[in-house]
Amino acid sequence: MAYDFDLFVIGAGSGGVRAARFAAGFGARVAVAESRYLGGTCVNVGCVPKKLLVYGAHYAEEIGQAQGYGWTIDGATFDWKTLIANKDREIQRLNGIYRNLLVDSGVTLLQAHARLIDPHTVEVDGQRYSAEHILIATGGWPQVPDIPGREHAITSNEVFYLESLPRRVLVVGGGYIAVEFASIFHGCGADTSLLYRGELFLRGFDGSLRDHLKDELIKKGVDLQFNTDIARIDPQADGSLMATLKDGRTLTADCIFYATGRRPMLDGLGLEQVEVALDERGYIAVDDEFRTSAPSILAIGDVIGRVQLTPVALAEGMAVARRLFRPADYRPVDYATIPTAVFSLPNMATVGLTEEQAREQGHKVTIFESRFRPMKLTMTESLERSLMKLVVDADTDRVLGCHMAGPDAGEIMQGLAVALKAGATKRVFDDTLGIHPTAAEEFVTMRTPASI
Ligand code: FAD
Ligand code: NDP
Repeated sequence: MAYDFDLFVIGAGSGGVRAARFAAGFGARVAVAESRYLGGTCVNVGCVPKKLLVYGAHYAEEIGQAQGYGWTIDGATFDWKTLIANKDREIQRLNGIYRNLLVDSGVTLLQAHARLIDPHTVEVDGQRYSAEHILIATGGWPQVPDIPGREHAITSNEVFYLESLPRRVLVVGGGYIAVEFASIFHGCGADTSLLYRGELFLRGFDGSLRDHLKDELIKKGVDLQFNTDIARIDPQADGSLMATLKDGRTLTADCIFYATGRRPMLDGLGLEQVEVALDERGYIAVDDEFRTSAPSILAIGDVIGRVQLTPVALAEGMAVARRLFRPADYRPVDYATIPTAVFSLPNMATVGLTEEQAREQGHKVTIFESRFRPMKLTMTESLERSLMKLVVDADTDRVLGCHMAGPDAGEIMQGLAVALKAGATKRVFDDTLGIHPTAAEEFVTMRTPASI
């Protein structure tokens, strides 16, 4: 049967755009439908605008630190509206780039909601299109617990468009988004509390890093309240919001920001029309090659709920494009040693196993740790300290994990991820010359184990 397209991609986010562009580059006839914004979550309400706001928030510290270097900066003020307007302009520019990337690669772009009709048919704006393969890359959506007054809370969908900086903010959650936005709000000047339901935030990261970041955020003045959860939210006559906590206490704020995880975006997708099975968590279930239970339908990215990071969605999109249209170049996605960073202030970054994971997996480990005051801060009043940590297999000498909290942790970790991927041993780290004077050189100069 002749189809209208070889591949129909639903969602022009990180994964969808990558799959569409490369499939078209390999000679396939490709269409993409996007209902909201080109570039998806990452470009519009995720990685990119978030990082711009983190840069904005960091100036508060840098302006203070400049005095130690002889600068007098009188009357520095911050204007949230300017930051948001400039961010919006930059995102619009990126939307245009994404449009050109798709159109220039020969992809047919349909800017409207797409709905599945059957395993080979998609409906967009009342028009039906047939395709040999359909790729679902619809991403995720913020999830807010079902508590009374939840409609008064905002999520990452709204936070990037706040008209003014709230004076008092409650950030709820203990994952990436909560910790990053606690730093953004605090840096921009809001009274910020982070409420997390567990003992210590950033579950799954190395314990030393979690403790370290907790101490650093407290030193900077972020109010961290662990073992705390909101039971209800009530608007007050003066426009503020009162949060009643599960332990009966109340907190008043001007904005309550929920960052309590994301669900797969399946709304109005027409999944009921096809035999696509979901996993026990409600994400689209796929096999190793991203095939759903309907043979012609594939899925990648946040909607399959594996690792919700842009580079992972990109790798999955690439794998699908290659497997379908350039099989000679196909390589499966390797989910081992995925580097990642939390863009809190200070940044935190990691690759490989945490100390806890390494011990659980039965490795006999040697731990190397370095805690120090970053050189740039030695002539300032900042009390911020950095932490670097290596988890080494004592039997094989292989470096199992690298962890860092401190300025540019994400930038430093990217190179170390290459070393870990190549299977570097501690001996290789030791034999590598440092770049002096940098913070990164600490990773190749740690000689004395902190613990075994
Ligand atoms: P998305 O990028 O979400 O794209 C899905 C697209 O599908 C959307 O554009 C949506 O509008 C569209 N769509 C949905 N349904 C339909 C339909 N029926 N018809 C047509 N179109 C549809 N990751 C990092 O690696 N680094 C970071 O620093 C980082 N920061 C983040 C910060 C925040 C606040 C958030 C929320 C996420 C962040 N992420 C980060 C995660 C990253 O954004 C996601 O992992 C990534 O965007 C997933 O890509 P995707 O292609 O699966 O989905
Ligand atoms: P995460 O899954 O990282 O964190 C969710 C947090 O909310 C956890 O601390 C969780 O607690 C808590 N939580 C979940 N449900 C509830 C509830 N009902 N009540 C109270 N607390 C709750 O999700 P995020 O929303 O922060 O981010 C989504 C994903 O986006 C991340 O996992 C990450 O993959 C990606 N992302 C990546 C970034 C980066 O690379 N820098 C930045 C931002 C997002 P508990 O730990 O107890 O389960």
